[in-house]
Amino acid sequence: MIIHSDWHIHSEYSYDAENPLSLIAKNAGAQGLCRVGITDHANYNDEKFLGDLRASAAGVKEAQKEYPFMVLGVELTPIAKPQFDYIAKTGTRDGYEAPTSGFPFDIELAASKQEMMELGVRYAIGASHWRVDRPGTSAQPIDRDACIKEWYRQQMYLAADERVTILGHPWYHGKGIWYEDFDIIPKGMKDDIAAALKENGKYVECNSHFFLTSMATETFRRQYAEYLRSMFEMGIPVTYGSDSHKNYWDARGKVEEYLTAAGFADGDVSELKEKDLW
Ligand SMILES: [Zn+2]
Ligand SMILES: [Zn+2]
Repeated sequence: MIIHSDWHIHSEYSYDAENPLSLIAKNAGAQGLCRVGITDHANYNDEKFLGDLRASAAGVKEAQKEYPFMVLGVELTPIAKPQFDYIAKTGTRDGYEAPTSGFPFDIELAASKQEMMELGVRYAIGASHWRVDRPGTSAQPIDRDACIKEWYRQQMYLAADERVTILGHPWYHGKGIWYEDFDIIPKGMKDDIAAALKENGKYVECNSHFFLTSMATETFRRQYAEYLRSMFEMGIPVTYGSDSHKNYWDARGKVEEYLTAAGFADGDVSELKEKDLW
């Protein structure tokens, strides 16, 4: 095994996940993982998501009494600054109407570092999930070039933001629109993101999704593992994330096949170092 810790797990405190913390702890123990990070979603700065984060923090704090190898993290996603401001003012996402100009919208994240640290959060995964540059993009047909541009913009933001410890699932796309051939993404964009991660002392995630989803081709998986390897060789530490949402299980076998083929050996997949935890 070359993966010994898992830094991206959703518990029952995420709106879209159902892993009880006790199940995560037991299965992590059975897998021989030395540390596991719980990273529930904090998508927006509203009561729904900040309440989930408080519940996750309280739950993990309690569980740590029995399972001291559990670490409290969070998963953040870029949101549009005008929406963040609206929620900050009104307390709700209800009734928000996006401005009709000023594109691309500035980016924000749901919480400040101070707020997260007060809850005991020790690190954050920052990851792109959807476009926030313009309103209404989810209702339009997917524009691949606009998506690439937007993912690049968001990931450059995440690679530089002080709240992000790990760039989560780089170039993940829910509909897998570039999962046939990773070369669709311009090399210059990948290089810029890698340079920013390196410069800002961030980690990059090897997310099990890419190696398990049927949307990704063999070619893509190979290319993706090589991409992670190239960042590792630049000195960017690579962490593993199962990104499990339910039935927490050992997904490492398949992932390690691709990592090994790309040159990863035991010791190359990192834990978060104590100095990098808040
Ligand atoms: Zn994610
Ligand atoms: Zn996740």
